Amino acid sequence: MKKIVLATNNAHKAKEIENILRDLNVEIVLKSEVGLKDWDVEETGDTLEENALIKARSFKESLGEIDAFVLADDTGLFVEKLNGEPGVYSARYAGAEHDDEANNKLLLKNMKDFSGEERRAEFRTIMALIDSNGREYLATGDCKGKILESPRGANGFGYDPLFVPENYEESFAELSDEIKNKISHRYNASISLYEILKGIL
Ligand code: IMP
Repeated sequence: MKKIVLATNNAHKAKEIENILRDLNVEIVLKSEVGLKDWDVEETGDTLEENALIKARSFKESLGEIDAFVLADDTGLFVEKLNGEPGVYSARYAGAEHDDEANNKLLLKNMKDFSGEERRAEFRTIMALIDSNGREYLATGDCKGKILESPRGANGFGYDPLFVPENYEESFAELSDEIKNKISHRYNASISLYEILKGIL
């Protein structure tokens, strides 16, 4: 069984990926399980791809000689009318890292002049995988939708209360985890990862 070590301690993300890769011969491991609980690296890239690769490469180096694949991901929300903002800066759009409320407020403020189709946006996730031989692969996934004019719903995190996925009336924060996890950018990236792994395992 091949180990895939995730550059995260987010057990939720691990579970999601584990479910999708279930029929492959892989074991998903969190960074805390390999003694790297506090490992981190600065995300200095200008794109999600760069950041995912920066994380995966640096994490692989920290792991040393362990015979395992490593996986790192980066996600952003891209709003067409804002030239792709908040994009790669989604976590720190309003300044402080992961201040969801401030980020959502700023997004609403910056979108106040846009209505209808002009509120189109999409989440994108890139997953960077490095295999035991150092070969690099990128899996991608997106989820298209629009930005609401005020927040709705209490589930999820980040921009969930402001994002309504295509073909749904509810925001990500109003949908159940079960539904969100079947249509989300991360789900689609995990499917892309599944295809890549199927080809190399
Ligand atoms: P990360 O790369 O997974 O850390 O995501 C970066 C930022 O994008 C997060 O801090 C959130 O603000 C936002 N984000 C990522 N995934 C989601 C999601 O599924 N819903 C809402 N916001 C998200």
